Amino acid sequence: MLDDPRSHGLWQKTAPSAPETSALLGDRMADVVVIGGGYTGLSAALHLAEAGRSVVVLEAREIGFGGAGRNVGLINAGMWVMPDDLPGELGAVHGERLLDLLGNGPQVVMALIERHAIACELTRTGTLHCAVGDKGLAEIEERARQWQKRGAPVEVLDAAQTERRIGTGAYRGALLDHRAGTLQPLAYVRGLAHAAVKTGATIHTSTPAIAWQQRQGRHVISTGAGSVTSDWVVVATDAYSTGPFSAVRREQVRLPYFNLATTPLSDNLRRSILPEREGCWDTKEILSSFRMDARGRLVFGSVGALRGTGTDIHRAWAKRALRKLFPQLPEIEFEAEWYGQIGMTDNALPRFHKFADRVLGFSGYNGRGISPGTVFGKVLAQHILGEMPEEELPLPLTVPAEPALRVLKEAYYETGAQIAHLAGDRF
Ligand SMILES: Cc1cc2nc3c(=O)[nH]c(=O)nc-3n(C[C@H](O)[C@H](O)[C@H](O)COP(=O)(O)OP(=O)(O)OC[C@H]3O[C@@H](n4cnc5c(N)ncnc54)[C@H](O)[C@@H]3O)c2cc1C
Repeated sequence: MLDDPRSHGLWQKTAPSAPETSALLGDRMADVVVIGGGYTGLSAALHLAEAGRSVVVLEAREIGFGGAGRNVGLINAGMWVMPDDLPGELGAVHGERLLDLLGNGPQVVMALIERHAIACELTRTGTLHCAVGDKGLAEIEERARQWQKRGAPVEVLDAAQTERRIGTGAYRGALLDHRAGTLQPLAYVRGLAHAAVKTGATIHTSTPAIAWQQRQGRHVISTGAGSVTSDWVVVATDAYSTGPFSAVRREQVRLPYFNLATTPLSDNLRRSILPEREGCWDTKEILSSFRMDARGRLVFGSVGALRGTGTDIHRAWAKRALRKLFPQLPEIEFEAEWYGQIGMTDNALPRFHKFADRVLGFSGYNGRGISPGTVFGKVLAQHILGEMPEEELPLPLTVPAEPALRVLKEAYYETGAQIAHLAGDRF
């Protein structure tokens, strides 16, 4: 995207094209202006347009330029935080509401994909959270226990079952979440954009929101060459925020995460490595993730940025790690590589912000934004349509606050990942 092969990598090569869009020129009116063309913004736009509202989406760069076009494509149910800890973090009402909503998040994503016939390599075979060592096993067993108590369809596989599904004996077991799946992330967000346009929304790309003013009870968002005046503003800019709502980005510590995609594996290898194409990640502190795309490319990722010295260090580490994990792989060739920034919040939970009356948004999904972005976009639409009052929203209102030592922590994550991968052949 934007001529940078390391921004969206494989997804840019294999996604269907985005709808035709252009930059905003001149002044417009709308019921709602949505800032940000990722999952949150486009889900909100689609659901609002379906209800007959006039919607204008402003995207600073291209559709899916942010996390939506760069991620691993794991459609997760729930957050990192253990289910039983959520009520403690958010209070009983919001905690249980959020668990319920995000536990069903993959279903919302999959239903939307079906309803709008979005071609995005969807798999529904679940995800595997892979246990490294005794500590990892204890962690997934506890997580499974807490979800099962709530009736969620999850199970713990033993080491032999895990090996049969993944094709490696590296793990003590795995938590199989039947609710989850995988998709091609850029194809999904472009599909949402097509659906939103078909339903009547207008999308302007190369159109950053640069200022916000309130005038006679309405909101005016100014861009370089125009403006939109609206009753409501949806802020959906998350970790890639620029402009008047950048406080959303500054309350997060950004964690770089890269992915490398192999060339398509032979049919024989595909029968031994992830034949059902589950999405996987492990329990290590500096975690790794892997999944197959529709053509049988293995997409392998971990913490780190592919820039400066990081590019060679992470690439060489990934080859070593893949060889250990899957000794059956012959010479490993990478066909694409890319990275992005994950927005982490201090308690690993998303945020609901209200910048003024009728100016609001969700953000901070901590590397789990496919389901939450889609679900929260829908929730924002329901709120704007008067179907969900503020007291029924899934998160309490918070004021964005910059965490202490943010810049230092971001530098530490990037350098720390290089040091770990330079030294690391542990698995
Ligand atoms: C490398 C990586 C791996 C990840 N893996 C997964 C995964 O496997 N599963 C999962 O569920 N989640 C994953 N995530 C997280 C997920 O991608 C994000 O949570 C999700 O994209 C957030 O969606 P969003 O729509 O809120 O924001 P984004 O997708 O980031 O979209 C925000 C958009 O706002 C635009 N914007 C910013 N400022 C302005 C402005 N002033 N005017 C107009 N537009 C503006 C940006 O250009 C951007 O396109 C990963 C993220 C990364 C980076």
